[in-house]
Amino acid sequence: MKSIKGTRFIQEEHPELLKDESFLSGGNCQSVAWPKDSNEATVYLKECFEDCVPLTISGARTGIAGGAVPLGGAVLSTDFLKGISPTSRANVIRVQAGETLDSVQEYCKREKPGLFYPPDPTETTASIGGTIATDASGAASYKFGSTRKWVDRVKILLPSGTDITIKRGDYQFDSGKLNHPLLGLIKLPGLEKPQPSKNAAGLYISPEMDLIDLFIGSEGKLGLILEADLMLKRKPHTIASFAVFCNEDQFWNLRNDLINSNLPMRELEVMADTCLPFLQIYTEKSYPKHGNWVLFTSIDIASEEELDIALETLEMLLEEKKISIDNTWGGFDETERKRLKEFRHLLPETVNRIISGFSSKNSRIHKISTDTAVHPDQLKEYYQTMKNILESTGVEHVVFGHSGQGHLHANLIPKDNGQLEKAEQAVKLIAAEAVELGGTVSAEHGTGKLKAPLLKLMYSRNELDDMNLLIESISGCKNTLC
Ligand SMILES: Cc1cc2nc3c(=O)[nH]c(=O)nc-3n(C[C@H](O)[C@H](O)[C@H](O)COP(=O)(O)OP(=O)(O)OC[C@H]3O[C@@H](n4cnc5c(N)ncnc54)[C@H](O)[C@@H]3O)c2cc1C
Repeated sequence: MKSIKGTRFIQEEHPELLKDESFLSGGNCQSVAWPKDSNEATVYLKECFEDCVPLTISGARTGIAGGAVPLGGAVLSTDFLKGISPTSRANVIRVQAGETLDSVQEYCKREKPGLFYPPDPTETTASIGGTIATDASGAASYKFGSTRKWVDRVKILLPSGTDITIKRGDYQFDSGKLNHPLLGLIKLPGLEKPQPSKNAAGLYISPEMDLIDLFIGSEGKLGLILEADLMLKRKPHTIASFAVFCNEDQFWNLRNDLINSNLPMRELEVMADTCLPFLQIYTEKSYPKHGNWVLFTSIDIASEEELDIALETLEMLLEEKKISIDNTWGGFDETERKRLKEFRHLLPETVNRIISGFSSKNSRIHKISTDTAVHPDQLKEYYQTMKNILESTGVEHVVFGHSGQGHLHANLIPKDNGQLEKAEQAVKLIAAEAVELGGTVSAEHGTGKLKAPLLKLMYSRNELDDMNLLIESISGCKNTLC
């Protein structure tokens, strides 16, 4: 097995393993291993466990919560855990943890024509293990839900070296309790209120849930996800995608009407007012000059007849809001969809590029972002509060995300230590407001190391202690959440 040791040597030879897209500083570790199969991974995991060395699992490190950034101890990289194979079911494939979302889609194109893997968390270089560990979602989760819904079976390696395979449907909790042949009696923490429907903060807990769902979204705290069986879906006849350039009033009216329409949307996204000016400055690209808001939607179309109906409905809604069709980008082919996807991706990518520049000059600077969500009906009110908090900091920022699901990301770009503190304070206020409205402090990125303190806003000390005890009883390690 490829492995290396020595804090300084790792810093010099593999600096990429000490950071992720959060730019959280201080990453360091004493050893790294790249197992290429389950046997090698078992050897390394057992060694760390027996020597009580804390272990960080490193996927593709596209995470923005610092979960894959090691703060001492050992790192297990999933880079060499490769392989995609068919199963006995035509719409299910078996994928090793280190494969990327890109490679899964390419496999589907080649080997499973007509089928695709629905989770689409924007950053397609993310690993399958990482997306399961964070229960990643993304734009298409409006229709398809998060990764959880598409994972049928997982093979997990516990820190002690024991491997367990869990297939959906095999083990079901009954009033928060379950007896598993290897794990023994598992008792779920009793939460004071149910978790919000879109939530990636803390362990997933629901009294009648499937055992597999406890491992999905557990951010590497319970063990290493080695491989998973992923469910595929039949592609629609056509996907029609649009970006509508408009002003704020037009945006909220159009968004609400689209939510209430019968259009089979897979995405309903937004870039709020500071995004276009930001992109114009930092990427020198130009956009239609009609308001600073952009609404993105993609609609799954089953037939030519449905296509006509969708286009007529959309045209009528635009006309009602006095939005000219000239202020709309879009179309039905792969090229047009790719162009819109690249446009959306350009925003977080540009933020990351700028932060990376500041961070190389001042190591305290890192990405400051929110991943909060509220009930979709409360989004407009919540956005206003968010905007007031952001503006009061004087820190450059953009707000974008999943407007159909009440889920927005504010990305702040602090340029010095003073701005960093103001930005961090703003994130706490925005998260507290989401919790006040019954929402979550993290809807899709997880809390990792950077956002773990926010968990205290959402859960009581008792609830967090119970989650930590559950982690310890399964993993045998004190891998506390917070
Ligand atoms: C430009 C950009 C856009 C993004 N957009 C989205 C989005 O729309 N939606 C979204 O959900 N996320 C988004 N992300 C965040 C990120 O891509 C996801 O969180 C992704 O799931 C992380 O996968 P990864 O392989 O990079 O994991 P890593 O960053 O390497 O790790 C993330 C966490 O998972 C753990 N982990 C990794 N692999 C395993 C494994 N095999 N077993 C157990 N634990 C493991 C790590 O220890 C860590 O805690 C975006 C990121 C970027 C850079």
